[in-house]
Amino acid sequence: MQIGNRIPSMKASGKDGWEIVYRTRALLAAGEPVVNLTIGEPDRPTDRRVLDAIHAAAVGGLTGYTHGPGLPELRVAIAERVTRRTGVPTTAANVIVTPGGQAALFAAHMVLLQPGDTGLFVTPHYPTYPSTILSTGAACASVAARAEDGFQPRAEAIMAAQQGTGARSLLVNTPNNPTGVVYAAETVEGIAAACRETDLWLISDEVYDTQVWEGRHLSPRALPGMAERTLVIGSMSKSHAMTGSRLGWIVGPEDVIAAATVLATNTTYGVVPYIQKGALAALALGEALEEEIAAPFRRRRAIVRDAVAGSRAVRVSASAGAMYVMLDIRATGLSGEEFAHGLLDAERIAVMPGESFGAAAAGHLRVALTLADDWLPDALHRIVAHAERVMQQSG
Ligand code: PMP
Repeated sequence: MQIGNRIPSMKASGKDGWEIVYRTRALLAAGEPVVNLTIGEPDRPTDRRVLDAIHAAAVGGLTGYTHGPGLPELRVAIAERVTRRTGVPTTAANVIVTPGGQAALFAAHMVLLQPGDTGLFVTPHYPTYPSTILSTGAACASVAARAEDGFQPRAEAIMAAQQGTGARSLLVNTPNNPTGVVYAAETVEGIAAACRETDLWLISDEVYDTQVWEGRHLSPRALPGMAERTLVIGSMSKSHAMTGSRLGWIVGPEDVIAAATVLATNTTYGVVPYIQKGALAALALGEALEEEIAAPFRRRRAIVRDAVAGSRAVRVSASAGAMYVMLDIRATGLSGEEFAHGLLDAERIAVMPGESFGAAAAGHLRVALTLADDWLPDALHRIVAHAERVMQQSG
């Protein structure tokens, strides 16, 4: 018996960009010590108070079905948070709770696209973006944010991609995984103008919006004429160290939320109710908890910058937010992939090659700031020393 073609066609052909991760897992399983800087996940458990709220809700009997767009009180709390952070009037009717940002990205594209349509995404990109778009049966096309522009996408590039493909939607991500870039106000204004001009829906992935080290996060939904064409993807995963709880959302126009609710009824049948109560408790803890969770990444980004400062072989690129730093290693003459494999061989340090996130990040490495502060300087010094050696050998 043969399976259908929809899922196989979600995958780009050949390598999937995760070879370093698979090699790292195999080495660790064989008992080899590897310093693992590949994973984008807070290196701490969910806050005890949030776990207590989850436990209390579960033993209190909140264990039944919760189909629909989410617990009313959680939708209100998310709407209030969005209103407070962006100034855009937002109500519970603009919110659907989903099992993580990942499911929100899927639902958003399912609601907006159909076979025959094209969805755009900005690259370098979070690796699931193209496959998420393809899973709707639509085609996908990328808009490159160039290293020369500090990985800030240009409005002209978006307009050209829309005109070349007739695309209906554009997916952007700020603060950005993998580059750590926080889009400048002019960038966000350019994106908004391009969307209005070419009648594009905008899907704005803002799951790292509490992790901004330089500049300011501006949600494109807050710009004139954008609330009616923007879907914001949010998540508790990174902001509240709740990756395993699978709690995210879409904020958008009411008809989009209603359509996403129909999809949820036929797929997930809602989100675990006691996890939703945990999310409510986490949001009630306010910015203090968000800052506590973001603080290590802020510190470690400074550690990385200090460790790399002065190197001719390695340069820190962008990295104004999110839990990643991009290192530009083009001076070594190696691709990110060659460098990352060589580094794993020689130093047993695992980093993600930029190419895993698209050709626009070629010659770069993504370092996840998920290693304890004490270990990070040594790991970075070894990466820099390795790069200097490679540069000497090649030059
Ligand atoms: N968007 C981006 C840019 C991400 O990096 C991730 C997770 N790494 C997600 C969405 C999805 O996260 P989650 O499903 O845990 O909310």
